[in-house]
Amino acid sequence: MRIATGETRQITTWFVGGWFNCPWCEAANPPEAQHCDNPACWASKYATAEHVRAEQDRRAREAAEREQRQRAAEAQAAAQQRYQEQRAALWAERVATATERGACLTCLRHSRWETEPRYRRHRRTDFHTAKA
Ligand SMILES: [Zn+2]
Ligand SMILES: [Zn+2]
Repeated sequence: MRIATGETRQITTWFVGGWFNCPWCEAANPPEAQHCDNPACWASKYATAEHVRAEQDRRAREAAEREQRQRAAEAQAAAQQRYQEQRAALWAERVATATERGACLTCLRHSRWETEPRYRRHRRTDFHTAKA
């Protein structure tokens, strides 16, 4: 079935009596129809080549925008993932240092351990629990 721009699509869905589904919009059409009965369809006799091309451009633009948004979201997720991994690695490093120095992990956890890690040693092992 041909549309105003000259593009064609093969009709693939046929029904008894020669009825068929429009390959452009899926609307049912009577036997031998040269144009689609759906007035909004590109294969409708009302659709001009200009209109169809404008519509095709709009859809292509929308698809490109969707893809761009999708890529941005993926990049964002990857950055987030990297950040979490780096943070976890840094924490492991801090814990290793604290362990080496016999420092308290509770104090380390409560400090700004990413930028200013606090390594404290308590004389009493129940330093935190005793206060609570
Ligand atoms: Zn149609
Ligand atoms: Zn502590």
